[in-house]
Amino acid sequence: MAWIDLNEARETDAPQFEVILEPDADDETLKAAASEKILAIRFPKFRDGRGFTLARLLLEHHGFKGVLVATGHLIPDQAQFLLRSGFNVAEMKDEAHLASWQKALERFKIHFQKAWYSERLNREKKSSSCIAEFASQLESIDTLVGRLKSLDSQTKGRIAFATSLQKEDQAILFGLWKAGVKADVFTLDTGRLFPETYDIIALTQARYGIPIRVISPDAIELEELVAQNGVNGFYESIEKRKACCFTRKVQPLKRALHGASVWLTGVRRAQFAGRADMPLAAWEEAHELIKINPLVDWSDDDLECFLIENDIPVHALHHKGYPSIGCQPCTKPVKEGEDPRSGRWWWENQSLKECGLHVTQAA
Ligand code: SF4
Repeated sequence: MAWIDLNEARETDAPQFEVILEPDADDETLKAAASEKILAIRFPKFRDGRGFTLARLLLEHHGFKGVLVATGHLIPDQAQFLLRSGFNVAEMKDEAHLASWQKALERFKIHFQKAWYSERLNREKKSSSCIAEFASQLESIDTLVGRLKSLDSQTKGRIAFATSLQKEDQAILFGLWKAGVKADVFTLDTGRLFPETYDIIALTQARYGIPIRVISPDAIELEELVAQNGVNGFYESIEKRKACCFTRKVQPLKRALHGASVWLTGVRRAQFAGRADMPLAAWEEAHELIKINPLVDWSDDDLECFLIENDIPVHALHHKGYPSIGCQPCTKPVKEGEDPRSGRWWWENQSLKECGLHVTQAA
């Protein structure tokens, strides 16, 4: 028996788990196991996919934050799916299979340093003063590429970048490409996006040769949401709208960020009043990582100039009056001079329009 660290794609020591969940574990058992630091799930046969479901339930419903180990009958073809489902370590038949597992993980290009999973176990929450110092150090660097390089050199673990393909995120993706920083780039496909959003995903991947993982909502949760609230229930109340955002955005984001050390976002203070106090770096308790907003101090003009100077492709709807682009049924164009955010959930009369992805206000 041998073990592979899926994040690093390298052989690792046998994980010291005390609890092994069988594939038919019930919800009570999962709940009780969720506080373990290292937890194993058994796969009796490689065709038995129940372990993947258990992993999702543990992460999304029971808040499991430890190291997740897949043990039993596993094959290299499952490597990427194991990683995407939140597993950190997997059992290999023996050391001779290491190369096959590494090859299977190769397309999933994520940059790692050192023994990630043991790092994570030992990682302590950063103190607010330490984070504030880190934020001001990064903010003192003038260029986006410089900030990203500095971040990369000081980061252990996966840098996750959730792109919405809007202007800010296109600038960051260009910066990552230019700086040679390998990040785990993904986008949340809510199932209600504009056709133009899919076009810009394809165009951007082709331009920079950087794979963009497309993360979908959990199918069962989505079916339950639609059965309960209807396909367009989000128009009926703020609660129903937030429930839709939670299933289509917040939960998939949580899954995609699991195990990452850094979360890069395109949040800027100038975007709207609710973001005026956003720090460049903050500890994000919900995901147990550092959230970095490398464009936080950029003005609208800074962003526009950067896009033009670097010939960066932008979402087609930006040219049609959409300063902020989300899901098709919840986004409309705004008129010149109107609040750029007013086209999002326009039927709601509230000053703080957020979907739950970005809630951090201060370091
Ligand atoms: S923006 Fe609208 S369609 Fe998209 S997840 Fe939120 S409520 Fe649902």
